[in-house]
Amino acid sequence: MFLTISTTGTPERPATDLGFLLHKHPGKAQAFSTSHGTAHVFYPEAAPERCTAALLLEVDPVALVRRGQGKGRGGAPDAALAQYVNDRPYAASSLLAVALRAVFGSALNGRCAARPELVGQVRPLRIEIPVLPARGGAELVHRLFDPLGWYLVRPEPLPLDEQFPEWGASRYVRLVLEGELRLTDALRQLYVLLPVLDDAKHYWVAPDEVDKLLRAGDGWLAGHPENGLITSRYLARHKRLTRDALERLELARLAEADGSEAEDLDNAVDEDTDTAERPLPLAVRRREAIVAALRAAGAARVLDLGCGQGQLVQELLRDVSFTEITGVDVSVRALGTAARRLRLERMGEKQSGRVRLLQGSLAYTDKRLAGYDAAVLSEVVEHLDPPRLPALEYAVFGAARPRTVLVTTPNAEYNVRWETLPAGRFRHADHRFEWTRAEFRDWAGAVAGRHGYTVEFTPVGEDDPEVGPPTQMAVFTRDGETDTDTTDTTDTTDTPKEGEAA
Ligand code: SAH
Repeated sequence: MFLTISTTGTPERPATDLGFLLHKHPGKAQAFSTSHGTAHVFYPEAAPERCTAALLLEVDPVALVRRGQGKGRGGAPDAALAQYVNDRPYAASSLLAVALRAVFGSALNGRCAARPELVGQVRPLRIEIPVLPARGGAELVHRLFDPLGWYLVRPEPLPLDEQFPEWGASRYVRLVLEGELRLTDALRQLYVLLPVLDDAKHYWVAPDEVDKLLRAGDGWLAGHPENGLITSRYLARHKRLTRDALERLELARLAEADGSEAEDLDNAVDEDTDTAERPLPLAVRRREAIVAALRAAGAARVLDLGCGQGQLVQELLRDVSFTEITGVDVSVRALGTAARRLRLERMGEKQSGRVRLLQGSLAYTDKRLAGYDAAVLSEVVEHLDPPRLPALEYAVFGAARPRTVLVTTPNAEYNVRWETLPAGRFRHADHRFEWTRAEFRDWAGAVAGRHGYTVEFTPVGEDDPEVGPPTQMAVFTRDGETDTDTTDTTDTTDTPKEGEAA
């Protein structure tokens, strides 16, 4: 069983930092004895530009059988030779996950005493597992890893016998993953998903397995579209434990959403009592700017990503040129409020055919988001932890790829103008960061470059000569789509939508 983890580096962030992160010196080959055999860790390459750590697990089949763990599915305990002659020693599997934890436990838990600042770093990572049992094949590998922010997920089915290709594929794949992630996130995903793919647990499933699963799944499992399958397989289809785990995941998801759905300081104006005399609240001006930009882009089918309580969706419904409006949010509670605000229940058929609310996380690619003219991310990016931003970037600009994307976010420089905001504080308790104009431009410019978009910036609210506007907006246009394009292939006509529950 073999797994390699590679990273590339620069002089400021050398690839050999991998040694610190894994707590294993790149200059040494080390061996660890685990309950199933010997785990070897060594570095086939260790240079500042590129560094690879390899984990080789030498399984002792006899020890496995003695521990009563080498049995195939339903095999009688004394089925003699079959117990000793099986794929366990050769294929990466749950045992590799156990070894990962035994050997790279600190890295998996996100601890790095020597260089704590490295833990939060998103790094280019490449993981390769030459032989991985995958019950469910390449297709399931995609369903499990695609939503997790990897740029490349490549499971190659391995033939049953190289000499006889006509025999077809075995249940093994060679797996390559590439992406920019924190090492701790990558390891925690593997720790859970390797046994899920193997689907043959080799140890007794004790109740504390639920805790282990939730710990390893923290931050990615609750919102994963396959969390039911993952949980059930990880817990060896143990019904009660699976139900417990799913309930706790749901609670975690709600708690996470609760934290992020409170109104922003600059939104916290009772808009319903707004009168013409007062200056327009910033949230209203923001929506006006967004609607104007959507009209200018000629968008008809619009996604409101992180729609919160549905104020923008409501605004868009007033304009018939928006033929289809989809609000997406991770928070079930916010969506409930949005549905009440829109009076979805009492809407006529024609109106309700134009609007839809979906629960989902923007940190995952989602097929439902493909095929729209435009997507809006209004005051959303700053609610994500910076390491999750590449995943959002990929889900929106890489996978959904609408012609136009609008992103608004607070301008941190303007905060000195908020009288009620103590210096150094963010506008909202859930903001993970607030960008200056330069920081926003850097991010947006890099995103546009990576995904074939052009980006322009528009101030929202009074543009202070010194500190800029309170809100900054980026308008991304997919390359080759800047002009009025009559050969447009996206469907902007008023086609009936496929049937769905009202
Ligand atoms: N767009 C609205 C709400 C902004 S508040 C407005 O402009 O007023 C940020 C919203 O993003 C919240 O509703 C929060 O639940 C949602 N959100 C945060 N992280 C998310 C994620 N990963 N996926 C989807 N929505 C998310």
